Parts: sequence; C-alpha cells; structure tokens
Amino acid sequence: MDVITAPSPAGCYAEKGESYEDYARRQFEAMEILLEKHAHEVAAVIIEPLVQCAGGMRMYHPIYLSLLREACDRYQVHLIADEIAVGFGRTGTMFACEQADISADFLCLSKGLTAGYLPLSVVLTTEDIYQAFYDDYTTLKAFLHSHSYTGNPLACRVALATLDIFAKDNVIENNRHLSQAMDKATRPLREHPHVGEVRQQGMILAIEMVDAAKKPYPWQERRGVQVYQYALEKGALLRPLGNIIYFMPPYVITPEQIYQLAEIALGGIDRATQD
Ligand SMILES: *Cc1c(COP(=O)(O)O)cnc(C)c1O
Repeated sequence: MDVITAPSPAGCYAEKGESYEDYARRQFEAMEILLEKHAHEVAAVIIEPLVQCAGGMRMYHPIYLSLLREACDRYQVHLIADEIAVGFGRTGTMFACEQADISADFLCLSKGLTAGYLPLSVVLTTEDIYQAFYDDYTTLKAFLHSHSYTGNPLACRVALATLDIFAKDNVIENNRHLSQAMDKATRPLREHPHVGEVRQQGMILAIEMVDAAKKPYPWQERRGVQVYQYALEKGALLRPLGNIIYFMPPYVITPEQIYQLAEIALGGIDRATQD
C-alpha cells in the first residue's frame, strides 16, 4: 500500500535550546502541508501517540496530537491511534491520547490489554463509523472482516481479568511512583560521557548511547547488543533498539529491581562504549 510519511515530531531531533513543544509545533507544519495537499486521497492518519516505540523510543510533546486532531477534523481525514504499545498505563495515563485530551476515530489496542499473557488485539471505533456499516442485510454494507481466532474466548477472559486489575488496584498511581524511581535510578546515566539523551514518558525510559563527539555510533557496530549480552550475564533482559537501551518493565517491578536494572544498564553501557 502506498503511504505518505510525515517527519517525526520527536524531541530528540530538536535544535539545541529548542523545547520539545516548539519542535513538535514546527514539525507539525509539514503534516499540515501534507494534509492540505493529500486530504482528498487519504483515508486516515495513523500515529503512535506520545512515543514512537519500535522507531527508537522517540518521544514527543502532546501538542502534536492536539494539532493533528484539529487538522484531521478540518480536512475530514480519520485519525487512527496505534496505542498497542503505549496504551494501558504505559505513558502515565490509561491511554496516551488522554494527555492531549483528544480521542481518535480508531484506537488499536493489544499487548497490555491481556498484560501480555495471551495474544489479543482490538480495534475500537466511533459510533458514526459503526453505523456506516450497520444496515439491513440487503444493502450489503456490512464490513466483512475477521480472523480465524477472532474473539478467542480464553484471550478475552484474560483481557477481562486484566481490566479488573486496573479497576481494583491503583495501577496508574502506583506506576507514578515506579516511574519516579526509574527517573532517580538513571540519574548517574545522564552525566555519562557516552549518553546523548535519557528520555522518559511514564513507564518507558530510553537511554541513547553516543560516541565521544556526542554523535550516534554507526549501527554496524551493534553496541546495543553488547549491553544486551552484559545484562544477560547479570540476570536482566535489556533489549536494545540499535544504540538505544530502554526500560519498559512490567508494572509488578519493584523500586529495588529498577535500581538494579539501572546499575546493570550503567555497567553494560560502560563496557559497550569503552573503545
Ligand atoms: C507490537 C505493536 C504492533 C503489532 O501488534 P500485533 O497485535 O502483534 O499485530 C503494532 N503497533 C505497535 C505500536 C506495536 O508496539
């Protein structure tokens, strides 16, 4: 499928002295131009709210989402929020879109929906879109789309059990304390000569390794893998994304384990950047 790609609003690309918010506003200008030019042929804008995860845990200011919602309404283009990774408390609120006080026309959810225990994904949509396909059988307007295992009862039961935990336990509030521990535990890394940026959004924290000139290491050197291997020796699983080491821990982690993880990350980064 042909897609049009807009430049990332991620604050890690901001000019020196430029705030995340100013950068997001500036990057939105390119999105506005794309919408103006292509709205007539575009079905939807799809975005990962607040954090572009697999793209390198790139974080951006919520103003981008507010501006995008407003522009999608203006140009009559649907907005799809892919909250598969960021949904269910990961960014500090139940859903990342809440931080921009917006809602999407389609919301994609998975991962945290079952706390990772069984595979299940869902797409939520608005009443308007639901109604567009809901009619008498003879109008043939039904949206016929399914998978072999759609609505798997066991996976759905796990999702309900997970939602019960969110309703009963103070998960979001507890995560606030855990994310503060993540911030504190990684303070020594912020001063590290081979760390370009430590960024955090709720329960996601990313550490970017850089060379002595504060430039990214060539990806071919696979420095992240060295951190991964070091961490494995120490009993931790630190999966890198290129030169980026990140924490995206399960919510049952304890502050003690967060400090342990940060210490292991520091040791691994020391080793991976010593030459
Ligand atoms: C994991 C992930 C997906 C893939 O979801 P599946 O349900 O495995 O297809 C899509 N988008 C984001 C943002 C993800 O993190």
